[in-house]
Amino acid sequence: MESTLLTLLFLLSTITASAVAVVGWRRRRVTHAVGTLAVVAAAIAAWAATDAFLIAADVLATSHLALTAKLLPACAVTAGFFCLSQAVLDRTWRLSRRTALWLAVEPALIVTTVASDPWHHLLFPPTGPGLQDVRQSGIAPLFWAHTAYSYTLLAIGLAALLRAWMRGPRSQRELYGLVLLGTVPPLLINVLSTVGFVRPHLTPLGFCVTVVVGYWALVRRALPELVSVERSHLFDMISDMVMAVDCSGRLLDLNPSAERMLRDLVPDLPERLAGLPVTGILGDPPLGDDMETDSTVTDVNGRRVDLNVRVSALRNGQDEHVGWALVTRDVTALNAQRRELQETNDQLREQVRTVEALRADLAEQAVRDTLTGLHNRRFLMESLGREMKLAAAEGTPLSVALLDIDHFKQINDRYGHTAGDQVLMRFAKLLGGRVRQGDVLARYGGEEFVVVLPGATGEQAQARVDELRQWVTAGRIPAGGHTLSVTFSAGVAALDAGQNPGELLHVADEALYEAKRAGRNRVQLAAPEPDPSAAAA
Ligand code: GH3
Ligand code: MG
Ligand code: MG
Repeated sequence: MESTLLTLLFLLSTITASAVAVVGWRRRRVTHAVGTLAVVAAAIAAWAATDAFLIAADVLATSHLALTAKLLPACAVTAGFFCLSQAVLDRTWRLSRRTALWLAVEPALIVTTVASDPWHHLLFPPTGPGLQDVRQSGIAPLFWAHTAYSYTLLAIGLAALLRAWMRGPRSQRELYGLVLLGTVPPLLINVLSTVGFVRPHLTPLGFCVTVVVGYWALVRRALPELVSVERSHLFDMISDMVMAVDCSGRLLDLNPSAERMLRDLVPDLPERLAGLPVTGILGDPPLGDDMETDSTVTDVNGRRVDLNVRVSALRNGQDEHVGWALVTRDVTALNAQRRELQETNDQLREQVRTVEALRADLAEQAVRDTLTGLHNRRFLMESLGREMKLAAAEGTPLSVALLDIDHFKQINDRYGHTAGDQVLMRFAKLLGGRVRQGDVLARYGGEEFVVVLPGATGEQAQARVDELRQWVTAGRIPAGGHTLSVTFSAGVAALDAGQNPGELLHVADEALYEAKRAGRNRVQLAAPEPDPSAAAA
Protein backbone atom coordinates (compact mmCIF):
# COMPACT_ATOMS: atom_id res chain seq x y z
CA MET A 1 0.00 0.00 0.00
CA GLU A 2 2.80 2.33 0.98
CA SER A 3 4.69 1.55 -2.22
CA THR A 4 1.57 2.25 -4.30
CA LEU A 5 1.21 5.69 -2.74
CA LEU A 6 4.91 6.39 -3.28
CA THR A 7 4.68 5.25 -6.90
CA LEU A 8 1.75 7.58 -7.42
CA LEU A 9 3.61 10.47 -5.79
CA PHE A 10 6.66 9.93 -7.98
CA LEU A 11 4.44 9.59 -11.06
CA LEU A 12 2.72 12.88 -10.16
CA SER A 13 6.15 14.52 -9.83
CA THR A 14 7.17 13.04 -13.17
CA ILE A 15 4.10 14.52 -14.87
CA THR A 16 4.50 17.92 -13.18
CA ALA A 17 8.23 18.19 -13.92
CA SER A 18 7.66 17.03 -17.50
CA ALA A 19 5.01 19.70 -17.94
CA VAL A 20 7.40 22.38 -16.67
CA ALA A 21 10.10 20.96 -18.96
CA VAL A 22 7.87 21.13 -22.04
CA VAL A 23 6.38 24.57 -21.33
CA GLY A 24 9.74 25.97 -20.20
CA TRP A 25 11.55 24.62 -23.28
CA ARG A 26 8.94 26.25 -25.52
CA ARG A 27 9.55 29.54 -23.77
CA ARG A 28 13.33 29.23 -23.68
CA ARG A 29 13.67 32.19 -26.03
CA VAL A 30 12.02 34.43 -23.44
CA THR A 31 15.16 34.09 -21.42
CA HIS A 32 17.98 31.64 -21.16
CA ALA A 33 17.10 30.95 -17.50
CA VAL A 34 13.72 29.42 -18.49
CA GLY A 35 15.48 27.12 -20.97
CA THR A 36 17.92 26.03 -18.26
CA LEU A 37 14.98 25.50 -15.90
CA ALA A 38 13.35 23.27 -18.54
CA VAL A 39 16.47 21.11 -18.71
CA VAL A 40 16.56 20.79 -14.91
CA ALA A 41 12.84 19.92 -14.92
CA ALA A 42 13.43 17.23 -17.55
CA ALA A 43 16.19 15.72 -15.38
CA ILE A 44 13.86 15.77 -12.37
CA ALA A 45 11.12 14.12 -14.41
CA ALA A 46 13.57 11.38 -15.40
CA TRP A 47 14.73 10.99 -11.81
CA ALA A 48 11.15 10.78 -10.47
CA ALA A 49 10.10 8.39 -13.26
CA THR A 50 13.04 6.08 -12.46
CA ASP A 51 12.12 6.16 -8.80
CA ALA A 52 8.47 5.41 -9.60
CA PHE A 53 9.58 2.45 -11.69
CA LEU A 54 12.07 1.19 -9.12
CA ILE A 55 9.51 1.35 -6.34
CA ALA A 56 6.77 -0.25 -8.41
CA ALA A 57 9.06 -3.04 -9.56
CA ASP A 58 10.74 -3.31 -6.15
CA VAL A 59 14.21 -3.49 -7.70
CA LEU A 60 15.70 -0.87 -5.44
CA ALA A 61 18.14 -3.10 -3.71
CA THR A 62 19.46 -5.14 -6.53
CA SER A 63 19.99 -3.50 -9.94
CA HIS A 64 23.12 -1.54 -10.64
CA LEU A 65 21.67 -0.61 -13.98
CA ALA A 66 18.61 0.86 -12.29
CA LEU A 67 20.85 2.78 -9.93
CA THR A 68 22.84 4.23 -12.77
CA ALA A 69 19.57 5.28 -14.35
CA LYS A 70 18.63 7.03 -11.12
CA LEU A 71 21.97 8.61 -10.24
CA LEU A 72 22.50 10.13 -13.68
CA PRO A 73 19.43 12.39 -13.59
CA ALA A 74 20.28 13.25 -9.99
CA CYS A 75 23.73 14.41 -11.13
CA ALA A 76 22.10 16.33 -14.00
CA VAL A 77 19.76 18.08 -11.54
CA THR A 78 22.67 19.22 -9.36
CA ALA A 79 24.66 20.52 -12.31
CA GLY A 80 21.50 21.99 -13.84
CA PHE A 81 20.65 23.83 -10.65
CA PHE A 82 24.12 25.34 -10.63
CA CYS A 83 23.57 26.58 -14.22
CA LEU A 84 20.07 27.77 -13.35
CA SER A 85 21.39 29.95 -10.50
CA GLN A 86 23.91 31.53 -12.89
CA ALA A 87 21.29 32.13 -15.58
CA VAL A 88 18.85 33.66 -13.08
CA LEU A 89 21.52 36.02 -11.74
CA ASP A 90 22.81 37.09 -15.13
CA ARG A 91 20.59 37.10 -18.19
CA THR A 92 23.63 37.15 -20.45
CA TRP A 93 25.11 33.98 -18.90
CA ARG A 94 25.59 31.08 -21.30
CA LEU A 95 26.93 27.59 -20.54
CA SER A 96 30.45 27.58 -21.92
CA ARG A 97 32.02 24.41 -23.26
CA ARG A 98 34.60 24.52 -20.48
CA THR A 99 32.00 24.72 -17.70
CA ALA A 100 29.99 21.94 -19.37
CA LEU A 101 33.08 19.73 -19.43
CA TRP A 102 33.84 20.40 -15.78
CA LEU A 103 30.25 19.66 -14.83
CA ALA A 104 30.33 16.37 -16.79
CA VAL A 105 33.39 15.01 -14.96
CA GLU A 106 31.61 13.90 -11.78
CA PRO A 107 28.63 12.21 -13.48
CA ALA A 108 31.07 10.31 -15.72
CA LEU A 109 33.03 9.14 -12.68
CA ILE A 110 29.81 8.14 -10.94
CA VAL A 111 28.62 6.04 -13.87
CA THR A 112 31.99 4.27 -14.04
CA THR A 113 32.01 3.71 -10.29
CA VAL A 114 28.42 2.40 -10.17
CA ALA A 115 29.15 -0.03 -12.94
CA SER A 116 32.30 -1.32 -11.22
CA ASP A 117 30.95 -1.11 -7.66
CA PRO A 118 30.38 -4.84 -7.14
CA TRP A 119 34.16 -5.31 -7.42
CA HIS A 120 35.32 -2.57 -5.09
CA HIS A 121 32.26 -1.46 -3.07
CA LEU A 122 33.58 2.07 -2.89
CA LEU A 123 30.13 3.52 -3.59
CA PHE A 124 27.83 1.16 -1.78
CA PRO A 125 28.51 -1.21 1.11
CA PRO A 126 28.76 -4.91 0.34
CA THR A 127 25.21 -5.30 1.66
CA GLY A 128 24.09 -3.83 -1.69
CA PRO A 129 23.05 -0.58 -3.28
CA GLY A 130 19.96 1.33 -2.45
CA LEU A 131 20.58 1.10 1.28
CA GLN A 132 21.51 4.70 1.74
CA ASP A 133 20.41 4.45 5.31
CA VAL A 134 23.23 5.38 7.61
CA ARG A 135 21.62 3.71 10.57
CA GLN A 136 21.26 0.39 8.81
CA SER A 137 24.32 -0.24 6.73
CA GLY A 138 26.78 2.62 6.83
CA ILE A 139 27.87 4.51 3.73
CA ALA A 140 30.81 3.71 1.51
CA PRO A 141 33.43 6.48 1.00
CA LEU A 142 32.66 7.33 -2.64
CA PHE A 143 28.97 7.83 -1.88
CA TRP A 144 29.99 10.43 0.71
CA ALA A 145 32.29 12.04 -1.84
CA HIS A 146 29.43 12.14 -4.35
CA THR A 147 27.09 13.64 -1.74
CA ALA A 148 29.71 16.21 -0.68
CA TYR A 149 30.30 17.21 -4.33
CA SER A 150 26.56 17.58 -4.99
CA TYR A 151 26.06 19.70 -1.89
CA THR A 152 29.08 21.88 -2.75
CA LEU A 153 27.72 22.56 -6.25
CA LEU A 154 24.29 23.34 -4.82
CA ALA A 155 25.86 25.52 -2.13
CA ILE A 156 27.78 27.59 -4.72
CA GLY A 157 24.57 28.33 -6.60
CA LEU A 158 22.62 29.00 -3.42
CA ALA A 159 25.33 31.29 -2.01
CA ALA A 160 25.33 33.38 -5.19
CA LEU A 161 21.54 33.62 -5.12
CA LEU A 162 21.58 34.46 -1.42
CA ARG A 163 24.18 37.22 -1.90
CA ALA A 164 22.20 38.67 -4.81
CA TRP A 165 19.00 38.45 -2.78
CA MET A 166 20.63 40.46 0.02
CA ARG A 167 22.69 42.93 -2.01
CA GLY A 168 21.46 42.83 -5.59
CA PRO A 169 19.17 45.26 -7.42
CA ARG A 170 16.00 45.74 -5.42
CA SER A 171 13.67 45.01 -8.31
CA GLN A 172 15.31 41.60 -8.82
CA ARG A 173 15.34 40.54 -5.18
CA GLU A 174 11.86 39.06 -5.34
CA LEU A 175 12.94 36.74 -8.15
CA TYR A 176 16.09 35.65 -6.30
CA GLY A 177 14.09 35.17 -3.08
CA LEU A 178 11.46 33.01 -4.80
CA VAL A 179 14.06 30.80 -6.47
CA LEU A 180 15.80 30.42 -3.10
CA LEU A 181 12.48 29.55 -1.42
CA GLY A 182 11.89 26.90 -4.05
CA THR A 183 15.12 25.11 -3.07
CA VAL A 184 14.08 24.66 0.55
CA PRO A 185 11.85 21.55 0.06
CA PRO A 186 14.40 19.43 -1.87
CA LEU A 187 17.22 20.43 0.47
CA LEU A 188 15.19 19.54 3.53
CA ILE A 189 14.02 16.25 2.08
CA ASN A 190 17.50 15.41 0.82
CA VAL A 191 19.13 15.97 4.20
CA LEU A 192 16.46 13.89 5.93
CA SER A 193 16.67 11.14 3.27
CA THR A 194 20.45 11.03 3.28
CA VAL A 195 20.65 10.62 7.03
CA GLY A 196 17.85 8.06 6.84
CA PHE A 197 14.92 9.81 8.51
CA VAL A 198 12.87 9.64 5.36
CA ARG A 199 12.81 6.50 3.26
CA PRO A 200 13.21 6.04 0.42
CA HIS A 201 14.96 9.06 -1.12
CA LEU A 202 12.16 11.58 -1.84
CA THR A 203 14.45 14.36 -3.16
CA PRO A 204 12.89 14.39 -6.69
CA LEU A 205 9.55 15.33 -5.11
CA GLY A 206 11.21 18.33 -3.45
CA PHE A 207 12.96 19.37 -6.66
CA CYS A 208 9.63 19.17 -8.42
CA VAL A 209 8.48 21.99 -6.12
CA THR A 210 11.68 23.91 -6.99
CA VAL A 211 11.05 23.90 -10.74
CA VAL A 212 7.39 24.81 -10.37
CA VAL A 213 8.23 27.78 -8.10
CA GLY A 214 11.19 28.68 -10.34
CA TYR A 215 9.02 28.66 -13.46
CA TRP A 216 6.35 30.77 -11.81
CA ALA A 217 8.97 33.24 -10.53
CA LEU A 218 10.76 33.54 -13.86
CA VAL A 219 7.89 33.53 -16.33
CA ARG A 220 4.93 34.84 -14.40
CA ARG A 221 6.54 37.41 -12.13
CA ALA A 222 9.91 38.67 -13.34
CA LEU A 223 10.18 38.46 -17.10
CA PRO A 224 7.13 40.16 -18.53
CA GLU A 225 8.21 43.30 -16.74
CA LEU A 226 11.45 43.68 -18.59
CA VAL A 227 11.85 41.63 -21.71
CA SER A 228 9.40 40.42 -24.29
CA VAL A 229 9.92 37.50 -26.64
CA GLU A 230 10.30 39.35 -29.91
CA ARG A 231 12.45 42.08 -28.50
CA SER A 232 15.06 39.95 -26.77
CA HIS A 233 16.72 39.04 -30.05
CA LEU A 234 16.70 42.65 -31.21
CA PHE A 235 18.11 43.69 -27.88
CA ASP A 236 21.13 41.45 -28.42
CA MET A 237 21.60 42.45 -32.06
CA ILE A 238 21.56 46.23 -32.05
CA SER A 239 24.83 48.08 -32.12
CA ASP A 240 23.57 50.70 -29.67
CA MET A 241 24.60 49.92 -26.13
CA VAL A 242 21.45 49.21 -24.15
CA MET A 243 21.36 48.80 -20.41
CA ALA A 244 18.55 48.41 -17.92
CA VAL A 245 19.43 49.74 -14.50
CA ASP A 246 17.40 49.81 -11.30
CA CYS A 247 16.36 53.02 -9.57
CA SER A 248 19.76 53.32 -7.88
CA GLY A 249 21.68 52.95 -11.16
CA ARG A 250 22.70 49.31 -10.67
CA LEU A 251 22.80 47.11 -13.73
CA LEU A 252 19.85 44.75 -14.28
CA ASP A 253 20.47 43.72 -17.84
CA LEU A 254 22.57 44.71 -20.82
CA ASN A 255 23.14 43.72 -24.42
CA PRO A 256 26.48 42.42 -25.80
CA SER A 257 27.41 45.86 -27.21
CA ALA A 258 26.95 47.42 -23.79
CA GLU A 259 29.02 44.71 -22.14
CA ARG A 260 31.85 45.27 -24.65
CA MET A 261 31.72 49.01 -23.99
CA LEU A 262 31.76 48.62 -20.20
CA ARG A 263 34.75 46.29 -20.41
CA ASP A 264 36.51 48.78 -22.69
CA LEU A 265 35.89 51.56 -20.21
CA VAL A 266 36.68 49.84 -16.92
CA PRO A 267 39.56 47.40 -16.43
CA ASP A 268 39.09 44.08 -14.62
CA LEU A 269 35.31 44.07 -14.38
CA PRO A 270 33.89 40.92 -12.75
CA GLU A 271 32.55 38.22 -15.03
CA ARG A 272 29.01 38.88 -13.91
CA LEU A 273 28.02 42.51 -14.42
CA ALA A 274 24.51 42.36 -12.92
CA GLY A 275 24.30 44.63 -9.88
CA LEU A 276 27.23 46.79 -11.00
CA PRO A 277 26.68 50.54 -10.49
CA VAL A 278 27.10 51.80 -14.06
CA THR A 279 25.92 55.38 -14.19
CA GLY A 280 29.28 56.61 -12.83
CA ILE A 281 31.08 54.77 -15.63
CA LEU A 282 29.00 56.64 -18.21
CA GLY A 283 29.81 60.07 -16.76
CA ASP A 284 26.77 60.25 -14.45
CA PRO A 285 24.01 61.06 -16.94
CA PRO A 286 21.04 62.71 -15.22
CA LEU A 287 18.39 60.02 -14.69
CA GLY A 288 15.02 61.25 -15.84
CA ASP A 289 12.37 60.43 -18.35
CA ASP A 290 13.51 61.18 -21.92
CA MET A 291 16.81 62.77 -20.96
CA GLU A 292 19.70 63.00 -23.38
CA THR A 293 23.20 63.91 -22.38
CA ASP A 294 26.73 63.91 -23.82
CA SER A 295 29.78 63.06 -21.79
CA THR A 296 33.42 62.27 -22.38
CA VAL A 297 35.10 59.39 -20.58
CA THR A 298 38.47 57.69 -20.86
CA ASP A 299 38.75 54.01 -21.79
CA VAL A 300 41.27 51.44 -20.54
CA ASN A 301 43.76 52.48 -23.25
CA GLY A 302 43.58 56.13 -22.23
CA ARG A 303 41.54 57.04 -25.32
CA ARG A 304 38.92 59.73 -24.86
CA VAL A 305 35.48 58.43 -25.75
CA ASP A 306 32.51 60.71 -26.43
CA LEU A 307 29.26 59.13 -25.32
CA ASN A 308 25.70 60.10 -26.05
CA VAL A 309 23.38 58.66 -23.39
CA ARG A 310 19.59 58.63 -23.68
CA VAL A 311 17.66 57.78 -20.57
CA SER A 312 14.03 56.71 -20.28
CA ALA A 313 12.04 55.29 -17.39
CA LEU A 314 11.26 51.58 -17.08
CA ARG A 315 7.90 50.63 -15.60
CA ASN A 316 6.53 47.24 -14.64
CA GLY A 317 3.08 45.85 -15.39
CA GLN A 318 1.64 47.75 -12.42
CA ASP A 319 3.05 51.00 -13.82
CA GLU A 320 5.54 51.25 -10.98
CA HIS A 321 8.86 52.83 -11.77
CA VAL A 322 11.43 50.03 -11.57
CA GLY A 323 14.48 51.62 -13.16
CA TRP A 324 15.91 53.23 -16.26
CA ALA A 325 16.79 52.19 -19.78
CA LEU A 326 20.09 53.70 -20.92
CA VAL A 327 20.79 53.72 -24.63
CA THR A 328 24.36 54.77 -25.18
CA ARG A 329 26.20 55.57 -28.40
CA ASP A 330 29.88 56.06 -28.98
CA VAL A 331 29.88 59.37 -30.86
CA THR A 332 33.67 59.89 -30.83
CA ALA A 333 34.04 59.38 -34.59
CA LEU A 334 30.92 61.41 -35.31
CA ASN A 335 32.18 64.28 -33.15
CA ALA A 336 35.60 64.15 -34.83
CA GLN A 337 33.88 64.37 -38.23
CA ARG A 338 31.75 67.23 -36.98
CA ARG A 339 34.82 69.08 -35.71
CA GLU A 340 36.60 68.47 -39.03
CA LEU A 341 33.57 69.75 -40.90
CA GLN A 342 33.42 72.78 -38.62
CA GLU A 343 37.11 73.51 -39.23
CA THR A 344 36.65 73.13 -42.99
CA ASN A 345 33.65 75.44 -42.77
CA ASP A 346 35.62 78.01 -40.81
CA GLN A 347 38.46 77.83 -43.34
CA LEU A 348 36.02 78.21 -46.21
CA ARG A 349 34.37 81.17 -44.52
CA GLU A 350 37.78 82.76 -43.99
CA GLN A 351 38.64 82.16 -47.63
CA VAL A 352 35.34 83.70 -48.72
CA ARG A 353 36.13 86.71 -46.52
CA THR A 354 39.59 87.04 -48.07
CA VAL A 355 38.20 86.69 -51.60
CA GLU A 356 35.53 89.26 -50.79
CA ALA A 357 38.15 91.66 -49.42
CA LEU A 358 40.35 91.11 -52.47
CA ARG A 359 37.40 91.65 -54.76
CA ALA A 360 36.50 94.87 -52.95
CA ASP A 361 40.14 95.91 -53.10
CA LEU A 362 40.27 95.20 -56.81
CA ALA A 363 37.02 97.06 -57.37
CA GLU A 364 38.43 100.00 -55.44
CA GLN A 365 41.69 99.87 -57.39
CA ALA A 366 39.72 99.86 -60.63
CA VAL A 367 38.25 103.25 -59.81
CA ARG A 368 41.37 104.78 -58.25
CA ASP A 369 44.24 106.61 -59.82
CA THR A 370 47.44 104.89 -58.76
CA LEU A 371 49.62 108.00 -58.56
CA THR A 372 47.41 110.39 -56.63
CA GLY A 373 44.97 107.97 -54.99
CA LEU A 374 42.08 110.11 -56.24
CA HIS A 375 39.18 108.58 -58.15
CA ASN A 376 39.98 108.04 -61.80
CA ARG A 377 38.24 109.04 -64.98
CA ARG A 378 36.14 105.86 -65.13
CA PHE A 379 34.71 106.54 -61.71
CA LEU A 380 34.19 110.19 -62.60
CA MET A 381 32.14 109.36 -65.66
CA GLU A 382 29.97 106.90 -63.76
CA SER A 383 29.30 109.16 -60.80
CA LEU A 384 28.86 112.26 -62.97
CA GLY A 385 26.17 110.44 -64.96
CA ARG A 386 24.47 109.39 -61.72
CA GLU A 387 24.63 112.86 -60.17
CA MET A 388 23.35 114.50 -63.37
CA LYS A 389 20.32 112.18 -63.46
CA LEU A 390 19.62 112.88 -59.81
CA ALA A 391 19.89 116.66 -60.30
CA ALA A 392 17.63 116.50 -63.36
CA ALA A 393 15.10 114.38 -61.46
CA GLU A 394 15.09 116.61 -58.40
CA GLY A 395 15.43 119.86 -60.37
CA THR A 396 18.51 120.90 -58.41
CA PRO A 397 21.57 122.61 -59.94
CA LEU A 398 24.86 120.84 -60.63
CA SER A 399 28.17 122.18 -61.88
CA VAL A 400 31.49 120.72 -62.93
CA ALA A 401 34.94 122.33 -62.87
CA LEU A 402 37.85 121.21 -65.06
CA LEU A 403 41.17 122.16 -63.41
CA ASP A 404 44.51 122.23 -65.24
CA ILE A 405 47.86 122.96 -63.59
CA ASP A 406 49.53 125.94 -65.22
CA HIS A 407 52.81 125.41 -67.06
CA PHE A 408 53.17 121.94 -65.66
CA LYS A 409 55.41 120.89 -68.51
CA GLN A 410 57.98 123.40 -67.29
CA ILE A 411 58.05 121.68 -63.86
CA ASN A 412 58.82 118.38 -65.55
CA ASP A 413 61.40 120.00 -67.75
CA ARG A 414 63.04 121.89 -64.94
CA TYR A 415 62.93 119.50 -62.02
CA GLY A 416 62.40 116.16 -63.68
CA HIS A 417 59.47 113.81 -64.14
CA THR A 418 59.71 112.49 -60.57
CA ALA A 419 59.38 115.98 -59.20
CA GLY A 420 56.44 116.42 -61.55
CA ASP A 421 54.85 113.31 -60.01
CA GLN A 422 55.44 114.64 -56.51
CA VAL A 423 53.74 117.89 -57.49
CA LEU A 424 50.76 115.96 -58.85
CA MET A 425 50.47 113.96 -55.61
CA ARG A 426 50.75 117.00 -53.41
CA PHE A 427 48.35 119.00 -55.58
CA ALA A 428 45.77 116.14 -55.31
CA LYS A 429 46.20 116.10 -51.55
CA LEU A 430 45.66 119.86 -51.30
CA LEU A 431 42.46 119.61 -53.33
CA GLY A 432 41.26 116.48 -51.55
CA GLY A 433 41.55 118.16 -48.18
CA ARG A 434 39.50 121.05 -49.32
CA VAL A 435 36.58 119.80 -51.45
CA ARG A 436 33.25 119.41 -49.69
CA GLN A 437 31.63 116.17 -48.70
CA GLY A 438 29.31 115.19 -51.52
CA ASP A 439 31.58 116.71 -54.16
CA VAL A 440 33.40 114.32 -56.46
CA LEU A 441 37.08 114.94 -57.09
CA ALA A 442 38.85 112.92 -59.78
CA ARG A 443 42.02 112.95 -61.82
CA TYR A 444 40.80 113.43 -65.39
CA GLY A 445 44.20 112.70 -66.96
CA GLY A 446 47.75 114.18 -66.99
CA GLU A 447 47.70 117.34 -64.89
CA GLU A 448 43.95 117.82 -65.29
CA PHE A 449 41.40 117.28 -62.53
CA VAL A 450 37.60 117.47 -62.33
CA VAL A 451 35.43 118.54 -59.42
CA VAL A 452 31.70 117.72 -59.59
CA LEU A 453 29.68 120.03 -57.36
CA PRO A 454 26.11 118.73 -56.93
CA GLY A 455 23.66 121.41 -55.76
CA ALA A 456 25.93 124.25 -56.86
CA THR A 457 24.93 126.79 -59.51
CA GLY A 458 27.60 127.98 -61.94
CA GLU A 459 28.36 131.05 -59.85
CA GLN A 460 28.51 129.14 -56.59
CA ALA A 461 30.76 126.56 -58.21
CA GLN A 462 33.01 129.28 -59.63
CA ALA A 463 33.31 130.89 -56.19
CA ARG A 464 34.13 127.60 -54.48
CA VAL A 465 36.69 126.58 -57.11
CA ASP A 466 38.25 129.98 -56.80
CA GLU A 467 38.63 129.37 -53.09
CA LEU A 468 40.46 126.17 -54.01
CA ARG A 469 42.64 128.08 -56.40
CA GLN A 470 43.61 130.54 -53.70
CA TRP A 471 44.28 127.72 -51.29
CA VAL A 472 46.55 125.93 -53.76
CA THR A 473 48.30 129.10 -54.81
CA ALA A 474 49.06 129.93 -51.20
CA GLY A 475 50.43 126.46 -50.58
CA ARG A 476 54.07 125.50 -50.98
CA ILE A 477 54.84 122.20 -52.64
CA PRO A 478 58.15 120.41 -51.98
CA ALA A 479 59.33 118.57 -55.07
CA GLY A 480 62.77 117.39 -56.24
CA GLY A 481 64.54 119.22 -53.41
CA HIS A 482 62.75 122.48 -54.19
CA THR A 483 59.73 124.22 -52.79
CA LEU A 484 57.40 125.15 -55.59
CA SER A 485 54.38 127.31 -55.87
CA VAL A 486 51.75 125.93 -58.22
CA THR A 487 48.72 127.54 -59.79
CA PHE A 488 45.91 126.16 -61.85
CA SER A 489 43.31 127.44 -64.24
CA ALA A 490 39.75 126.13 -64.24
CA GLY A 491 36.70 126.17 -66.42
CA VAL A 492 33.29 125.84 -64.71
CA ALA A 493 30.10 124.69 -66.45
CA ALA A 494 26.63 124.53 -64.95
CA LEU A 495 24.33 121.68 -66.01
CA ASP A 496 21.86 122.51 -68.72
CA ALA A 497 18.78 120.44 -69.37
CA GLY A 498 19.35 117.56 -71.79
CA GLN A 499 23.15 117.55 -71.53
CA ASN A 500 25.13 114.37 -71.19
CA PRO A 501 28.37 114.12 -69.13
CA GLY A 502 30.60 114.43 -72.21
CA GLU A 503 28.83 117.59 -73.35
CA LEU A 504 28.95 119.15 -69.91
CA LEU A 505 32.67 118.44 -69.60
CA HIS A 506 33.20 119.82 -73.07
CA VAL A 507 31.59 123.11 -72.03
CA ALA A 508 33.84 123.18 -68.93
CA ASP A 509 36.88 122.46 -71.13
CA GLU A 510 36.05 125.41 -73.33
CA ALA A 511 35.79 127.65 -70.28
CA LEU A 512 39.17 126.29 -69.14
CA TYR A 513 40.63 127.23 -72.49
CA GLU A 514 39.22 130.71 -71.92
CA ALA A 515 40.90 130.87 -68.51
CA LYS A 516 44.24 129.85 -69.99
CA ARG A 517 43.89 132.34 -72.74
CA ALA A 518 43.03 135.05 -70.28
CA GLY A 519 46.36 134.57 -68.49
CA ARG A 520 45.98 131.41 -66.33
CA ASN A 521 45.61 131.14 -62.51
CA ARG A 522 41.93 131.93 -62.77
CA VAL A 523 38.49 130.33 -62.79
CA GLN A 524 36.31 130.88 -65.82
CA LEU A 525 32.56 130.26 -65.73
CA ALA A 526 31.20 129.09 -69.08
CA ALA A 527 28.66 131.37 -70.64
CA PRO A 528 25.15 129.89 -70.52
CA GLU A 529 24.17 128.05 -73.68
CA PRO A 530 22.15 130.28 -75.98
CA ASP A 531 18.46 129.35 -75.82
CA PRO A 532 17.72 127.56 -79.14
CA SER A 533 14.10 128.80 -79.09
CA ALA A 534 15.31 132.41 -78.67
CA ALA A 535 17.77 131.90 -81.55
CA ALA A 536 14.96 130.61 -83.75
CA ALA A 537 12.90 133.69 -82.93
P1 GH3 B 1 49.35 124.88 -69.72
O1 GH3 B 1 49.56 125.93 -68.69
O2 GH3 B 1 48.95 125.43 -71.03
O3 GH3 B 1 48.44 123.80 -69.25
O4 GH3 B 1 50.76 124.24 -69.96
P2 GH3 B 1 51.20 122.87 -69.49
O5 GH3 B 1 52.62 122.75 -69.66
O6 GH3 B 1 50.67 122.58 -68.17
O7 GH3 B 1 50.43 121.92 -70.51
P3 GH3 B 1 50.92 120.84 -71.51
O8 GH3 B 1 49.67 120.13 -71.98
O9 GH3 B 1 51.78 121.43 -72.55
O10 GH3 B 1 51.80 119.88 -70.66
C1 GH3 B 1 51.29 118.97 -69.80
C2 GH3 B 1 52.40 118.06 -69.38
O11 GH3 B 1 52.08 117.21 -68.30
C3 GH3 B 1 52.85 117.13 -70.49
C4 GH3 B 1 53.09 115.81 -69.83
O12 GH3 B 1 54.39 115.35 -70.00
C5 GH3 B 1 52.91 116.11 -68.36
N1 GH3 B 1 52.32 115.00 -67.70
C6 GH3 B 1 51.13 114.40 -67.97
N2 GH3 B 1 50.91 113.37 -67.09
C7 GH3 B 1 52.01 113.37 -66.26
C8 GH3 B 1 52.36 112.58 -65.15
O13 GH3 B 1 51.64 111.68 -64.76
N3 GH3 B 1 53.52 112.83 -64.52
C9 GH3 B 1 54.36 113.82 -64.89
N4 GH3 B 1 55.47 114.08 -64.26
N5 GH3 B 1 54.04 114.56 -65.96
C10 GH3 B 1 52.89 114.37 -66.63
MG1 MG C 1 46.79 120.13 -69.75
MG1 MG D 1 48.58 122.41 -67.85
